[in-house]
Amino acid sequence: MIQLMNTLSGKKESRASKKLLMYVCGVTPYDHAHIGHGRCYVAFDVIYRLYSFLGVEVVYCRNFTDIDDKLLHRAHIEFGDRLRYHEIAQRYIESFTRDVSALGCIPLRVEPRVTDNIAQIIDFIEKLISAGHAYESQGDVYFDIETFPEYGKLSKQKTEDLCAGVRVDIREGKKNSLDFALWKSEPEGQFWQSPWGYGRPGWHIECSALAKTYLGEHIDIHGGGLDLLFPHHENEIAQTESLYGAPFAHIWVHNGFVTINKEKMSKSLGNFFMLHEVFEKFDPMVVRYYFLMHHYRAPIEFSFELLEVAQKNYEKIVRIFAEVELGVTYKHPIFDAMMEFLCDDINTPGFLGTFFEYLADIQADKQLLGVVKAIFTDILGLTLQPIAKKEVVITPEIQQLLDERKKARQEKNWKYSDELRDRLKSLGVEVHDEKI
Ligand SMILES: [Zn+2]
Repeated sequence: MIQLMNTLSGKKESRASKKLLMYVCGVTPYDHAHIGHGRCYVAFDVIYRLYSFLGVEVVYCRNFTDIDDKLLHRAHIEFGDRLRYHEIAQRYIESFTRDVSALGCIPLRVEPRVTDNIAQIIDFIEKLISAGHAYESQGDVYFDIETFPEYGKLSKQKTEDLCAGVRVDIREGKKNSLDFALWKSEPEGQFWQSPWGYGRPGWHIECSALAKTYLGEHIDIHGGGLDLLFPHHENEIAQTESLYGAPFAHIWVHNGFVTINKEKMSKSLGNFFMLHEVFEKFDPMVVRYYFLMHHYRAPIEFSFELLEVAQKNYEKIVRIFAEVELGVTYKHPIFDAMMEFLCDDINTPGFLGTFFEYLADIQADKQLLGVVKAIFTDILGLTLQPIAKKEVVITPEIQQLLDERKKARQEKNWKYSDELRDRLKSLGVEVHDEKI
């Protein structure tokens, strides 16, 4: 039985069912996916794979927020026309799909775009208005926070404290500063027609409406990055639970942040890396392995030096399994112990620790080695293919450094030669010396 840490209850919980419904918040495709996205979708891919491995069918739905202020802004900057936002969305949805697939994430069958589901969103908003949980104000529609007393239960905050902390965004006609937009009015003829005039949906409503459309009113697992806990997930709960009067999701799962120099990686701080940039230097499987060296809820400190360490470990694992045939089933206490780590809130570091600790025993038993390989490939999603060495183009700059280093070595100037080796390494060139 798989236990997952439920942010809502603060306890590890499980769902006993042969079929589970899982919703994970997707990206807003206005730019390439960064390393934080990679981490999130690898984490949920492993959860998805683990359930499948144990014979549980998971219907996994992940959305694309393909209409949003950021998309409109980007279209305005690039084309001078914000209504060409769908071209931006298409480009970055393709980029996202390439990146997560390189990371070994299983392609999803349910991956709805918001713009294909506007009717369902309008319907959800209409129902909220009829039930007295939302109100229209000059073409905009807001969720009425006062009608949902449990607001704040996921992020463990009180409405009074939240009100005090909220930046006053006095859009005309809001009853309470915490009320959030379900529908945003736009000039006549733009975007979509609705009972409240032309406009487009607010951000939060899409996940409630899409989960309802593709999975149902109640789901088993709802996931996303920790940055979505508040207000996004809190608002999703308010929308869905006030309408259907029962828990939206049983288990809320949040993955931790990626930090750089101990600071949260974020676009606004300028300290972030796009996945495709990282893939230029490292094989995506090394990046995936690097994520799995950490517990999905723990923060990950990201650096290229740490990726080098991950690469060495990963290459070792690839060598161990190079000639090993995949096993199907085999009863063994070491195998059970390793599976137990994964079933206990996806403890991948615990799993890897056990693997290295009992490596000699595992290697001594061919059948055990085969089933352990299956965990690496089927659950952790690591292909275990040898890493292709990146081809280095010898530029005139690199040639000059190589010549200079050769001379330094002939002159036995080891310090300078080491300095040059490091400079070459930073350019992607590894030098292997022969004795002189
Ligand atoms: Zn969401």
